[in-house]
Amino acid sequence: MAKRDYYEVLGVEKSADQEAIKKAYRKLAVKYHPDRNPGDKEAEEKFKEATEAYEVLSDEQKRPIYDQYGFAGLEGMGGGGAGGYSHAFHDFSDLFGGMGGGMGDIFESIFGGGFGGSSSRRGGPEAGASLRYDLNLSFKDAVYGTSTEIHFRHREKCEACNGSGAAAGASKKTCPTCNGVGQVRQGNGFFTIQQTCPTCRGKGTIIDHPCSSCRGTGLQEKNKQMSLKIPAGVDTGKRIIIRGQGDAGENGGPSGDLVIVLHVADHPNFQRQDNDLFCAIPVSMSQAALGCEVTITALDNKKLTIKIPEGTPNGKMLRIKGEGVPVSGSSRKGDLYVEVSVQIPTKLSSKQKDLLKQYMELENPTTEPKLVDLTK
Ligand SMILES: [Zn+2]
Ligand SMILES: [Zn+2]
Repeated sequence: MAKRDYYEVLGVEKSADQEAIKKAYRKLAVKYHPDRNPGDKEAEEKFKEATEAYEVLSDEQKRPIYDQYGFAGLEGMGGGGAGGYSHAFHDFSDLFGGMGGGMGDIFESIFGGGFGGSSSRRGGPEAGASLRYDLNLSFKDAVYGTSTEIHFRHREKCEACNGSGAAAGASKKTCPTCNGVGQVRQGNGFFTIQQTCPTCRGKGTIIDHPCSSCRGTGLQEKNKQMSLKIPAGVDTGKRIIIRGQGDAGENGGPSGDLVIVLHVADHPNFQRQDNDLFCAIPVSMSQAALGCEVTITALDNKKLTIKIPEGTPNGKMLRIKGEGVPVSGSSRKGDLYVEVSVQIPTKLSSKQKDLLKQYMELENPTTEPKLVDLTK
């Protein structure tokens, strides 16, 4: 299947700003969200297509690359390639997996490496990799928010050498293989191919005595712990980005980000759709017929008394306003929908049986089988 242009997918102009892109995506995401279109393959494809387009066009690094080189430019970056989604819909692929190398990698993948003097790897600053952290949340914590502690490992600037990679007293010197260029020419006759220098890996310099703590990389892996506040109303797929907590950059480059991807567990009694909660309550046949009041303990342990009107049919949805999921960034809440589940008794005492028989005789006094005419 040919891929559609990302601007076309979102229905925006090439000149659209971030606000317009976001708005267009939100509209499509709401329309085609799998939760709203269960089992609808076409909607699922549309949702994925829109999400992919949004991932690229909302990314200030990827959008210009896409504008200039199209889909080919994004290959190897994660999100742009077909089938990059590792998990049904919510988990928008590991966008951050391949980005550690910064722009140099992309140009290398387009031009097959050794792209002349513009390579950013020649000892220049290199951004650190962004890291992904998958955080599992209980249903209730996702609805009402929580605080938690996360533990992860990331690369920090090596303390022993302050990031230089050189042992005390040692120094950097020009790489003898490439004379500091970071690239070597190889070839015979017709072709000459420029390649990243294998001795200095493109940096142009080597360290005569590398730091023993970091083996010359200037970085060291460290355990890190951090307390994290999860706002109320989050859902699976939501990302929390903590700037600068990914891997440290090299040669003074910026650190990557820590991207927390949330996964919300199911609840045995409650389901959720956006900001609305759904549950079912059992009601006896006679309660449904005569009407009654039922008190439930809601998700937040609040006691809610629900009035079941006289003659409530099985499956009836009752809406309780404002008892749903908090809408993030506002004081509003969604609603709680209670489905009435009318229970037919299976174990009756002889007294209950007698009463029901009396009731049945009132309902239908004849002993003839009841005729149900389905032609009308
Ligand atoms: Zn070191
Ligand atoms: Zn070299």
